[in-house]
Amino acid sequence: MEKGKEDYIAHCLILPYPSQGHINPMLQFAKRLSQKGVKITLVLTKFLHKTIQEFSSSPISLETISDGFDEGGRAQAESLAAYRKHFRLIGTETLSELVEKHKTDFAVDCIIYDPFLSWVLDVTQKFGLVSAPLFTQSCAVGNIYYHVYKEELKLPLLETQKIVIPGLPLLESSDMPSFISVHGSHPESFEMVLYQFQNLEKANWIFVNTFHKLEEEVINSMTKFLPVKAIGPMIPSMYIDQRLMDDKEYGFSMFKPISDVCIKWLNERARRSVVYVSFGSLAQLGAEQMEELAQGLKMCNEYFLWVVRSSEESKLPENFSEETAKKGLIVSWCPQLEVLAHKATGCFITHCGWNSTLEALSLGVPMVAMPQWTDQSTNAKFIKDVWKMGIKARIDEKGLVEQAEIVRCIKHIMEGEEGEEIRTNVIKWKEIAREAIDEGGSSDKNIEEFISSLMSNTS
Ligand code: UDP
Repeated sequence: MEKGKEDYIAHCLILPYPSQGHINPMLQFAKRLSQKGVKITLVLTKFLHKTIQEFSSSPISLETISDGFDEGGRAQAESLAAYRKHFRLIGTETLSELVEKHKTDFAVDCIIYDPFLSWVLDVTQKFGLVSAPLFTQSCAVGNIYYHVYKEELKLPLLETQKIVIPGLPLLESSDMPSFISVHGSHPESFEMVLYQFQNLEKANWIFVNTFHKLEEEVINSMTKFLPVKAIGPMIPSMYIDQRLMDDKEYGFSMFKPISDVCIKWLNERARRSVVYVSFGSLAQLGAEQMEELAQGLKMCNEYFLWVVRSSEESKLPENFSEETAKKGLIVSWCPQLEVLAHKATGCFITHCGWNSTLEALSLGVPMVAMPQWTDQSTNAKFIKDVWKMGIKARIDEKGLVEQAEIVRCIKHIMEGEEGEEIRTNVIKWKEIAREAIDEGGSSDKNIEEFISSLMSNTS
């Protein structure tokens, strides 16, 4: 028999910002809530819905709204500012229609949304719904942006400036998100990250994809002015607890993963013998950097699995795949969690996107940090100096990580005695991450608190 509204604790809409790194944690949160008896409707833009390469999640309903660019999404808009403006106007209208539509069957109680779309709060207020923004970046990064938004941190920074922000370690200018360290570099993106805070104090809940022990000091410091709740790490629970294999059906990908080939290839490799290399869904390496990385991987003589998105393929050195065929596998997209969880994976060369960082941390894979832009330099600082989960590749005066440096970093992690501390730390963090989202863990308690409040709202 079909379930009715009375069979659920509450009905939440979940609206991610349409990019892979923002969708993944939202979808996992959707799943957690659904497992705990909340009806979830995932709301996607029409264009995103069309581009999905892989999605199945039976208990979660799917609905679409418009961002005004149904044929091409962000790429169709002339600028990020134009995209955001249309999304706000048309999104407000179409999201309101969606809430109206459900009034007679599954009335909506709450909207969980990406703070990049902070206009959603107006929709929740119009309909008297609970508002719950979910930050998909680290609490540390949120704290930095907040201090800039409040003008407590004045820009531009001096190149040699030491930055003191409550709750954070002493930071250098180069540890700051790129929109701040290279002031004026991406003005429209910078405006978007600050926009997250424009009405935040009016939100009923403020979630962050992190966990208490990972960012204890910054969470404690931030809660003095914003009641942030850590609910992460939002990665599929099967990777935390092998008994939860059902999670496999919760994939969502904008790219087509070359799954079977990757896993078969990894199955043939020895324990901790493979270097996994990926720069996520957006970062674009310069041709020279690609060359250095490629030559470094070749010189190092370790097995490697390298994700080179189709749009980046032309930057690979000529005949590189053929020349390294015995040692390397290059794919356009992989099932990253399965790769990180695989026993053959011994090291992760990463751009330090927040999801990749949390995934490596939760699955116990040491990292070589090669941050490219946005929040990645800050994540790299924490990976290296705070959590001691990896090292950061040194950049030369031309702004490149040279091939010899790539080799040094890989050897440091994979072989050297120096890597021992890192290899021990990854085991520790893996365990702490699991505890946080296990039943009764710090993140699980925060989720339960949210659910109890939804229950008392709807009863
Ligand atoms: N990812 C994946 N396959 C790949 C590369 C990345 O599934 O080949 C996933 C990865 O697991 C992560 C997301 O894409 O969840 C990338 O998010 P992240 O925040 O690390 O970086 P972004 O793409 O936002 O820069």
